[in-house]
Formats: sequence, C-alpha cells, structure tokens
Amino acid sequence: MRIGTSRVIYTFDKRHPPALSVSSGATVAFETLDAFGGQVNSSDQTLSSLDWSRVNPATGPLYLEGAEPGDSLRIDILSIEVAPQGIVAAIPGAGLFGDRVRQPEVRLLPFVDDAVILPGNITARLQPMIGVIGTAPAGVAEHCGVPGSHGGNMDNARITAGTTLYLPVFVPGGLLAIGDLHALMGDGEVMVTGVECAGTVTVRVTVLKGQTVLNPQHEDDEYYYTIASHESLDVAVRQSANDMLDLVMRYGSLSLNEAGMLLSCLGQTHICQVVDPKMTARFAMPKAVLRKLGDHDPLRRLEVPW
Ligand code: CA
Ligand code: CA
Repeated sequence: MRIGTSRVIYTFDKRHPPALSVSSGATVAFETLDAFGGQVNSSDQTLSSLDWSRVNPATGPLYLEGAEPGDSLRIDILSIEVAPQGIVAAIPGAGLFGDRVRQPEVRLLPFVDDAVILPGNITARLQPMIGVIGTAPAGVAEHCGVPGSHGGNMDNARITAGTTLYLPVFVPGGLLAIGDLHALMGDGEVMVTGVECAGTVTVRVTVLKGQTVLNPQHEDDEYYYTIASHESLDVAVRQSANDMLDLVMRYGSLSLNEAGMLLSCLGQTHICQVVDPKMTARFAMPKAVLRKLGDHDPLRRLEVPW
C-alpha cells in the first residue's frame, strides 16, 4: 500500500480526511516531497519566488483502524529511499546565523554513489533520516514545521531506516503523516536545512493498545531514546531526561536516586535541532543496560519498556 504526493498536508490536524485506512501491522510506503514542496529546481532560483504556504508538506494522514486515544503507534522504519538530488539553503533571518546571512542562496546537490558533494568540495556519505513524522494532536492543529508531543518536525537524525519509533495516539486512527526527508543532517541543523530531499519511506505500523507514551520515544540496535520539544531547549532537555528517568525506574524497579545515578553515569543528552519554533532534545540509554535491569523479571519486555 502506498500514499502518493498528491496527498500532502501542511498541518497535523484531526479534521484531515485520511489518505488511506489500514489495519494494525500494515506496511505502507509514503512518497514525500522535499521541505520546499518541490519548488526549488535550480541553484539560480531566488527564495523570494517561493510560495511559503507550500513549505514543509507531509504525506498522509494514515488512519490506523482500532487506534484510540491513549494507545500508541509502533512505527518500524523499514527503508528510506531518497531522490537523486538534494537542496541546502542559506536564509536570512533563519537559524543560528540568520542575523549574519546577507544573501539568500540555495544549492542543488546531486547524489553519486550514495554520497553528496557539499560546499568546499567535501564528499560525505548519505545518512537518510526523517525530519517530520507525527500524529494529529487532540486539540488545535499544529503546523508541520513545529515539533511537539505528537512528533512533527523533530529533525532527529537518528530517525533512520532500522529505527522503531513510538508515537502517542491522541485522536481515533492516530492520523500518521511523514515528510521532510534529509539525505544528511548534523545534530542541531544549525542553518535550518540539512540536505533536503524528496523520497519514499516504507514503514510497518502497529497499534499498541492501552500502552500510552506522553512524548515520542524510539530505539535502534544500541540505544533507547526519549524525545521532548519545547520553546526552551533547557526545558526540552529536562523533559527528555525525566521521561527516561521514569522509564528506567519502572523498567528496573529502581528508586529515583538509583535510576538517576544510572542516567547520570551512562545516559547521554543529545540535541536534535535548535532552529524550529520549538527545539528538540533526546536522551539516550544503552539498551544493554535496560536489558540487564529487566533480566530479573521475565515478564518485562525490552521491546516496550515503559
Ligand atoms: Ca525540518
Ligand atoms: Ca528539513
């Protein structure tokens, strides 16, 4: 099953009609536009010609049959195929150097042999990731450019193929949408763009009945992560660490002090991005540690450690 780029949305909104409805466990391919909505086609293009209302599209939404508020979605990211080229930009007023950028500029960067040539003739291997992935909030709609508890524009460089993401379900069906692929992005995304590109994301989506997450979480082979977004990076860092603290206390039957000591010695605070209307942090704990903590109780499963 597949959702094409004719079905894009610019807000995560419970009122959007589903582009596709599937049962739990379905595999679905999302064809996505780049963050500029496919409007940038040459390095000579001026950003003033952009229709900014078409920026940050996400493909969807996907309705998961049986998903109800209080459930969560398990999203196994099976593959990310990127288009043959990407775009980087410098935009006055945007990002950490926005006050110093005098001249807006876009660069079209072709991909060759799974690599991209960046300014300065620097060749870098592609590391495709998903910038925007989320569900619909319970209340007012959220623009696709904004991250939050529903996911959205988290620009988390570790949301890659092979990762499993857990998102809250706030409305019936969850209403999952995906967009804003980056072929490459540094943590922070300091100039507001990674290597922006179109592509196709294939995911398997499972409804976890009665299993609630308050904020997005994800895992790869090595780490389990909690994610939080806020206007203040301080608050985002604090929230992501506290979500992991709660998780480790529950999973390992540890006191708050014991769990905190483990986080302080073995956990890592990472920054996803610092340039969107809210900033996003993640907290990483080695899964080997969680596995050991859970060993004494065979009823606890690492796969869903909250
Ligand atoms: Ca983004
Ligand atoms: Ca982007």
